[in-house]
Amino acid sequence: MNDTEYRNSYLLMTPGPLSTTEGVRRAMMRDWCTWDDDYKEITQNIRSRLIHIGECTPDNYTAVLLQGSGTYVVESVLTTVLDDQSKLLILENGAYGRRMATVAKTARIPFESYSFGETNPVDPEFVAARLDADPSITHVALVHCETTTGMVNPLQEIVHVIKQRGRYAIVDAMSSFGGMRISVEALNIDFLISSANKCIQGVPGFGFVIANTNALAQCEGRSRSHSLDLYDQWRVMEENNGKWRFTSPTHVVHAFHQALLELAAEGGIPARESRYVENQRRLVEGMNAAGFSELLPNAHQSPIITSFLYPTDDFSFEEFYQSIKKRGYVIYPGKLTEQATFRIGTIGDIHPSDIDRFVSVVAEIVGTKR
Ligand SMILES: *Cc1c(COP(=O)(O)O)cnc(C)c1O
Repeated sequence: MNDTEYRNSYLLMTPGPLSTTEGVRRAMMRDWCTWDDDYKEITQNIRSRLIHIGECTPDNYTAVLLQGSGTYVVESVLTTVLDDQSKLLILENGAYGRRMATVAKTARIPFESYSFGETNPVDPEFVAARLDADPSITHVALVHCETTTGMVNPLQEIVHVIKQRGRYAIVDAMSSFGGMRISVEALNIDFLISSANKCIQGVPGFGFVIANTNALAQCEGRSRSHSLDLYDQWRVMEENNGKWRFTSPTHVVHAFHQALLELAAEGGIPARESRYVENQRRLVEGMNAAGFSELLPNAHQSPIITSFLYPTDDFSFEEFYQSIKKRGYVIYPGKLTEQATFRIGTIGDIHPSDIDRFVSVVAEIVGTKR
């Protein structure tokens, strides 16, 4: 293979896997021994960097890495944290909230879920009323940025309501962590979940949990699954200085470490968030000029991914997608049950100049280019 074959054939304008840097891809070109100290040190370094970027102190919080895609980690948390005496309230406004309900149902975890509809944010007042009405609810789970639409839920307000009432807060911050500031400790979140291939800009293969150490320490022996037992995974990592319980995705771990170094070099989360915000702003401006409107009002829109409505009834997403792909960009179909939309991600190794080129391609395709 020569060097040009490593180059990407298109830019992924998707919410993960996303376009990574050459540095991240190159980090995968070596082999590592899982129980050697060099490798274990990398794991420990990743864990402490995650605590740091979650704005947590190592006295109160710990980070646990787990093999698999993001959903495996969601499942790991739900099946490790809730025992038979617990009851989970799931706050849904999209496919990822619904998926948590499926996980809970499959694992026979006592739960109830409430859907706010796909275009409404989770309402903290509703959560307060529900928790006041049902003291048997011990845990509440929600999605921070619903990747289904691009909606950001009011995390601070919701977690405040949950913690004020003494319940555990579980946050799926899969698509936002690393790309939006989240003060995990200040908010008092108990379990925050994300994965390698989203805003930290690594490649797929594992996910992680930033956990309140006391909350996690209570979970010994609760897990309904052996391989997804987050407590055991944590103990093994703690007691063996960064050893994973079972075979870990070594190349992916290395790429992730490199991605964390690059995040720090970029200026940390504030700098990355600014880049994503600027990407998203230029995207919407350019798409509006080409005749597309966004699904969500600006107030609820994340910088991560944006849903656009089909401009006409006879709009062919397939044709649009193929024309764009031919010019070097991959976008994302919609995932809404009710409205015809498609989505464009603004995260990954994508910069405002890429967005400018992208919207000019769109303008050319739809014939609005001046
Ligand atoms: C990506 C994502 C997940 C995990 O999906 P996987 O396909 O299992 O990686 C979960 N929740 C949200 C909000 C996501 O964006």
